[in-house]
This record gives sequence, C-alpha cells and structure tokens, in this order.
Amino acid sequence: VVQCARCGAEVPSGSFCGNCGEHLAEPFRGSRFDSFAATPREHTAHLAVVSTLFPRLPERHAAVFREALGAALLATLVLGALRLYAPALLVAIVVLPALCVVYLYEVDAYESQPLRVIAATLVAGAALGFAYTFVLGRLVSPSLAGTRQGAFVTAVAVPVGAQILMLAGPLLLTRLREFDSVLDGLTFGVTSALGYTLSAVLTAYWHVLTGPLQGPATFTPESIANIVRVGILAALVNASTTGAISAAIWSRVRATSSGRHASAWRGTAATAAAGALAQVALGLVSYYVSSLTLVVAVWAVAAVALLLWLRILLHHALLDEGVAHAVGPPSICVRCHRVVPAMRFCPSCGAARAAAPKRAHEPMQSVPS
Ligand SMILES: [Zn+2]
Ligand SMILES: [Zn+2]
Repeated sequence: VVQCARCGAEVPSGSFCGNCGEHLAEPFRGSRFDSFAATPREHTAHLAVVSTLFPRLPERHAAVFREALGAALLATLVLGALRLYAPALLVAIVVLPALCVVYLYEVDAYESQPLRVIAATLVAGAALGFAYTFVLGRLVSPSLAGTRQGAFVTAVAVPVGAQILMLAGPLLLTRLREFDSVLDGLTFGVTSALGYTLSAVLTAYWHVLTGPLQGPATFTPESIANIVRVGILAALVNASTTGAISAAIWSRVRATSSGRHASAWRGTAATAAAGALAQVALGLVSYYVSSLTLVVAVWAVAAVALLLWLRILLHHALLDEGVAHAVGPPSICVRCHRVVPAMRFCPSCGAARAAAPKRAHEPMQSVPS
C-alpha cells in the first residue's frame, strides 16, 4: 500500500492510482493525457471512431468494429465509383447505427431496461428524425437554397432544432437511477443521434433510394464524396455533439464529480454551446459554400475535431467521476486481463472501471477466493 501524491488516498501499489487514475510514479504530469481513461493503451488525443463513440467495447471486439467500419467505407467508395448511388448511400447510412445496436447488446448498455432504453434512444431518435425531416421537407425544401427561408432558418434554426430533438430521448432517461455513469449519458446520446440521422437521411433521400439503381451519367467523384458526408460524416458529427452534451448532462444530474478535473470549459453549458455552435457553423458552410468538394472537406475536418473534443471531454469526465474511495475484492481487469483489486481505476493499466462492459461488473468475473 502506498499513498497517492495526487489524491492523498492509501492505494495498492501499481502503475496507476486505483482511486484517482493518475500515474503513481509521476502524478503531476497533467491529467495523464497520454493514456485515455477508457482505453489506456491509446492517447487521449488519438483519432478513433470506435473507442470514442463505443468506449466500453473490449479490445478484440473494437478491432472487429474498426474492420466493419473500414469495409463499409470502402464498399461505399467502390459502389459509388460504379455509379450505384442507392446501394452506396444505403451502406454509408446503415453502418454506424448497425454497429451501435451490436454495441448496446455486447456491453449490456441497457442493463435490465432494454425496451425502455431502446425506445427512448434509437426508436425515439428515428421517429423524431423522420417527423422533423418530413415536415421540414414539406415546409422548407422547395426553396431551401432560395431567399424565402434564408440563412437563418436553413443554417441556424433547422440544425439547432435537430440537435434539441436528438437530445429529447436521452433526457427522458436521466431519471433512471441505475444509469449513473457519464458513459451511460454518452451511449444514450450517441444511440439517439445515430437513430435520428439514419431516419432523417432515409427520409430526405427516399427519392434516391427508390429511384433508378444507377446514378446519372453526370455522377462525379464529388457525388461520391457527398454520399460519405451525408451517410457517415453527418452521423459522426451528430453522434459527437449529442454524445458530448448528453454525457455532460449526466455528470451534472448525477453529481458524481469529485471536482479534481472539473472545468467550466467542460461543463454542461459550455458543452451544449459548443455542440450547437458546431451544428450552426456546418449549417452556414453548407448554405453559403457552393463547392461540394469544399463542403465535404469542411464536414470531414469538423467530424475529426468533434471526435477529438468528445474524447477529451470523456477522458476528464471519467477521471473526475466518483467520490468514494474503496478497495474491492480481486477481479479480472477487462483491459489488461490482470487480477487486480476492484477499484475505480485498474492499478495496473489505469483503465476506468466505469468504462468496462456492464457484464464485467457482475460477480461472475470475480476471482473465487
Ligand atoms: Zn490518487
Ligand atoms: Zn487493467
């Protein structure tokens, strides 16, 4: 047993403090930015779709998810190059929501409430995405780029409205006591956003999906890039902003902050403002910029920036989460597979226990004494 210089707790000796998650050897290097709290082998500022949006996933499964995502991207580009517009679009819009459903099941994200959670996130998101896009299509679309609605409606009101709708379902779940981690908030936000985006794009592009199998002869590489934007980049942007805001709301509602890594810049108000600002900025770019290549490039840069921003928020939220210090019985760490005392962080690899699959918390994983 040693004393952690950072939090002052008496903790089992190891590479990391089991209570605050800091390096025990060099605790004042900052907030262990070199080692992401959910998957310590990765840097916090590492660009990763899977370990950021689905952080509870064990590494073996994460590798399969990455391959599926890569294969879908490749399939989209190949189908696009063959001018098979509808199949390319379908592959692009389905891959992330499909992976998300597998993730919910794999990590037991909904615990004993599968119906309630799926209804309030995926189904509610999809229903709102359809309703909003359908109604807007009737009201706004004929002169979307014209002067009647103008930049304010198209680039500000519509995206902000969509962002609020994506948060509606997760907000209904804040009252359930069993979902007490910021990662629950993240998962609900991401699932709702992916359900919303899937159905919004399906609704908006229904004429394409039900049209001729092969696109027009004027089909250019720009059109393929636009499929990637509509299908994949939009889903990444929405999942990042909604996941971040939902996670921030969770840490506020649950009040599990230890205060060690709290910052106004990562608070609920700042996170909501940043998410809304990103949506508005992308709305303005899509409205004013006429070059499709440039629009897709801006969306790609935004998706990367938002994923990194979300990851930094999650890292600090995980380090910040949990107040009570306790040393539990020996159990197997899901990240490094070593037998370690059950604490908020693995003393060996530094992984936050809150970021393990939910099944791993069950007594079955404990080592019999
Ligand atoms: Zn400590
Ligand atoms: Zn470990």
